[in-house]
Amino acid sequence: MTWRFALIVDPVASDDARSDFADTLRVIDPDAPALSVGELSTQRGDGIFETIGVVDGHPQEVQAHLERLAHSARLCDLPEPNLAQWRAAVARAAAECPPGESAIKLILSRGVERVRTGLQGPTAWVTASPAADQTAARTEGVRVVTLDRGIDGGASARAPWLLLGAKTLSYAVNMAALREAHRRGASDAIFLTSDGYVLEAPTASVILRRGDTFVTPEPTGGILHGTTQLSVFDWLEREGHSTGYEHLPAAALADADGLWLVSSVRLAAPVTHVDGADLPVDRELTAAMNRYLLSPRD
Ligand code: PLP
Repeated sequence: MTWRFALIVDPVASDDARSDFADTLRVIDPDAPALSVGELSTQRGDGIFETIGVVDGHPQEVQAHLERLAHSARLCDLPEPNLAQWRAAVARAAAECPPGESAIKLILSRGVERVRTGLQGPTAWVTASPAADQTAARTEGVRVVTLDRGIDGGASARAPWLLLGAKTLSYAVNMAALREAHRRGASDAIFLTSDGYVLEAPTASVILRRGDTFVTPEPTGGILHGTTQLSVFDWLEREGHSTGYEHLPAAALADADGLWLVSSVRLAAPVTHVDGADLPVDRELTAAMNRYLLSPRD
């Protein structure tokens, strides 16, 4: 059985101190038309989003997702979100999620463009739906290929209008990279800078194991700071491992003692092959990581 839930958020100012947001959240029919044809999110991908994993009705790491939504809004010159309002919207959507795994999506669009009256916005909405089954990726792992992202390591500082650190709705490039990975016989990709450093996957962060140390690329280099990666690093530290952020050359991938793609709904998928070369997979550690990621996390 498939189900879906949607609500429109009427965004209030970030400093609005009210505690009850019920009258700013409007439940809508998820299958009925809801957006104006002038929506800039659909016309230009001009907006931001977050995807939150939900396990047995518990939305995971809500604060980290809301902080990243606010960070993306700042980078995109969108009005600052009222986090208490978005938290209320997430709670309302989570209350609709049945046992098992679901996904809640938060979308903040620049709004609707009208010729005579100008910009009307922002527009915001939240959806909840079942999560796609990730069992195979979590247990069997994924083959990845490396793909040139076409930007060097200095691009995000030199050209902030590329919005590289923002989770914008413009994911056409990320989806094209996944199609290219499929054409090359892999199921996912890892982006590299044009000067040969590891960035992220099109929809996930990369965690690399070297001995007892787990590292991920610096989030300053124009990639998203993954909420799942942050959570996994906390867990690894508690388990006695060390973690860190590094500038990782592409060659580090094939030399890794373990490699994972991690994100909010997939959780942790071990990488079995990079560009055809096989990698060690620690099934026990991966299973423990996913058990942790499936436990309630705030
Ligand atoms: N990087 C990109 C480009 C993503 O799209 C995502 C998630 O969708 C991530 C990293 C991982 O972020 P999170 O762990 O917060 O889901």
